[in-house]
Amino acid sequence: MTLEEKLKATIRNIPDFPEPGIQFKDITPLLSDTRLCAQTAKALAEPFKERGVDVVAGVESRGFLFGVLIAYELDCPFTMIRKSGKLPYKTVAQTYDLEYGSASIEMHIDAISEGQRVLIHDDLLATGGTAKATAELIEKVGGKVAGFNFVVALSGLNGQDRLQPYSDNIVSIVKY
Ligand code: AMP
Repeated sequence: MTLEEKLKATIRNIPDFPEPGIQFKDITPLLSDTRLCAQTAKALAEPFKERGVDVVAGVESRGFLFGVLIAYELDCPFTMIRKSGKLPYKTVAQTYDLEYGSASIEMHIDAISEGQRVLIHDDLLATGGTAKATAELIEKVGGKVAGFNFVVALSGLNGQDRLQPYSDNIVSIVKY
């Protein structure tokens, strides 16, 4: 079995959650298998080994789970991208549009320094809105986007197209 096949067999699909029409990809069964989690993180880190990643930025909240493991594999620091009001120290923020209204994400001001190469990670790529806002936040503080990686990518929502202007290095293991 390939890693993608193993992950497909493990990740659970929940129809109509949190609202009708959404096929929610539930990674909790994957978290029960920590060896498979470690294997997943290794595979996500591998394409970035020679790309000079200085920091991995994980997006709240499921992006934290594999983000730390990926940073460990790349032997670099990890930083959290959080919803506004959650981080205790001085922050820098980025607002982005949702289907209705807008949202804001934050990062600690000292998380990334000028010129550092940042790998953006989240568990799943859907429309790409969250990852795009993260890329904008990183560029705002003078960081460079080294790429993006996701355990799962939903094709058909054009998430990749929204991220392409920031980096061509977009990696995912499971595609639906
Ligand atoms: P987007 O900004 O549209 O790419 O959405 C990505 C964020 O929403 C990620 O943090 C995902 O965890 C979550 N998400 C969006 N759609 C789904 C889905 N179908 N199943 C699980 N998580 C999802």
